[in-house]
Formats: sequence, structure tokens, C-alpha cells
Amino acid sequence: MEEKILKISSLFLTVMITAALVVLSRFSVVNRKEAKHEQMSDLQMLAYYTKQAEEEEDITFRQQLRLELPPDMAEDEVIIQNDYVKQLVTIQIPGVEKDYFSSHPLLGRSDSIDDLYMEKGVIEITLDAVYEVKSTVADGYLYVDFLTPQQVYDKVIVIDAGHGGGAPGAIKQEIMEKDINLAIVLELKELLDQCDRNIGVYYTRTEDINPTFDQRAQLGAKAKANLYISVHSNSTTDGQMSEYNGTEVMYDEMKEEEGLSSKHLAQICLEEVTGLSGSKNNGLTYGNGIYIIRNNEAPAALIETGFMTNQAELNKLTSPGYQKIIAQGIYNAIMRALDEGY
Ligand SMILES: [Zn+2]
Repeated sequence: MEEKILKISSLFLTVMITAALVVLSRFSVVNRKEAKHEQMSDLQMLAYYTKQAEEEEDITFRQQLRLELPPDMAEDEVIIQNDYVKQLVTIQIPGVEKDYFSSHPLLGRSDSIDDLYMEKGVIEITLDAVYEVKSTVADGYLYVDFLTPQQVYDKVIVIDAGHGGGAPGAIKQEIMEKDINLAIVLELKELLDQCDRNIGVYYTRTEDINPTFDQRAQLGAKAKANLYISVHSNSTTDGQMSEYNGTEVMYDEMKEEEGLSSKHLAQICLEEVTGLSGSKNNGLTYGNGIYIIRNNEAPAALIETGFMTNQAELNKLTSPGYQKIIAQGIYNAIMRALDEGY
């Protein structure tokens, strides 16, 4: 009898110890997981929750992101912004709790994501290149796809309005080069917006801001652009007003000059712009010394539309009518270049 009691109590003890060990080990696993969460970046969290959801829900996430929206949230309440110059996509879910993303984690995967940051209803996604964002809402979920410009457009071009923001470029008689360049680019944008070809156009700026030289130069490569055109206005080296006037176009003289080269693109721009504007043709000039030309992977031409140091040309460059003509010349150059196979 005593022996039996002993056996039962030792069995009881074993069961209790085992149970305690299981509870303890579980507890430490949870603790480890929580500790891991604190160290994990938002990008690692995405991978972690996605794997967990795939195991639990028996689904497979492909190249797409999925976010559960708050109940009754309409598609147009989600704000998605795509700053393609910075390759930064921002998704805003207005009015959610601070910890919304911990209870409704972002799921999915994408090889295009370089970095991810989530905070209080805002998701910031840094992409490795320029992508078009396609979003859809179905069954309470927001689905986000990143498409390359080439998946969306037949041809891709980049337009750069020189200078901007705190970098005015040349200043003559209180007229700033950055404003002339932007005015021409905005006229060009109107023409390109109406173009019935399926062209994706990426602008380094469409307002008075100053993207870095690197952001400007990189945009050609990041969008895998077929061609790149930068718009500037010229000044003589000493900056003094003079008789010297006319249009010239810069290209990278250190690059391959056969076929669809920067040089040939520059030649097309020169012919089309001077042909339409009547500005003096000053020819092509070497541009390897210019950062955005030297560091551009796309065939690139930098158009110096005219001299701000020539009074007559300065007057023209500031007139909306002439800006429109220059823009039309650049537009014609783009169409001709694409026709030629760029
Ligand atoms: Zn300039």
C-alpha cells in the first residue's frame, strides 16, 4: 500500500515537473519571440509574419503586398503616394490606432523592396528602382503590386529641369535660370500628357525643388529610361551681358558614339529645337564634365536653350510663347528619337 502511494506520488511529481517544464519552455519561447520582434526591422517583420500566415492560413504570397483594412474603409480613403525620384512609396491608412500594424500586419513579399518603415497608419516603402504602383481593394484587403515602367509603357523617358529650390542656376536681372528651365519643362509636360503614344515620362521635378545630382542622374537608370533630356539655359563664362547667343546641346563624349548614342540624341535635340525656334545653332558640346551626363546610364542630352547673358535671348526665354516653342522643339526631338529606335 505504502509503496503504491509512493509510486502514485512520484508519478504525480513527474507529471507536475513535466508540465512545469513545458510551461516554462513555452514561456521562454514566447519571450524569445518577443525579444526577436524588438530587434527585427520592419522588413524582417514582413517576412516573419508572412511566413507565419502562410503556415497558418495555407496560402502562398507571391510578388504582392496585402494589408487588412479597417472595416468599412473605402478604397479611396487609402492614400498612396509614389515619389519616384526617391523611389519612395507611402501608404497612409487614416484614422487607425497607433498599434494597428501589430494586430493587422502587412503581409506578402516583393523583391523590389529595399527598406520598409511602419508607424501609426503610415507605411513607407523604399524601392530599389522606379515602379508604378498598382493597388486594388478586395474583400477588405488592400493589394499592392509594383510594376516596372517597361511592364506599363512601350517607351520610358526622363526629363530634368535644371537647378531648382535653393539652387537658382544663373541669375540675370533678377530672372533665375531654374524658373525658365521649369517653365519650359511644364510646357513640354503638357505636350507629353496629350501624346497618344504609350510613353512613361518621369520628371526629376515639376515644381520649385532641388533633387540631388545623384537623384537626377540615377533616375535614368532607376527607370531604365530609353532616353534622358535635361533642360538648362546658358550664360557666358564671365557672366557679363554680351552679343553671344544661340542653342547648344551637351552629350557625354567619353561614351560609345555609335548608333543610339547620347551624341546622336543631342544632335536630334539640336536640330529640332533650333529648327523650330530660329535660335542660332551653336553645335554640340562636350558634357562629360557635367555630373548628370557623366553618371547617366541612359542616352542623355543636356540642352542649353539660349543665353541669359544676351538681352534679346533673355527676353525671349522669359516669354511664355517662346518657352512653348522650345518645348515643342524638344517634344519633336523626343518623337523623332523614338521613331529612330531609342
Ligand atoms: Zn544650368
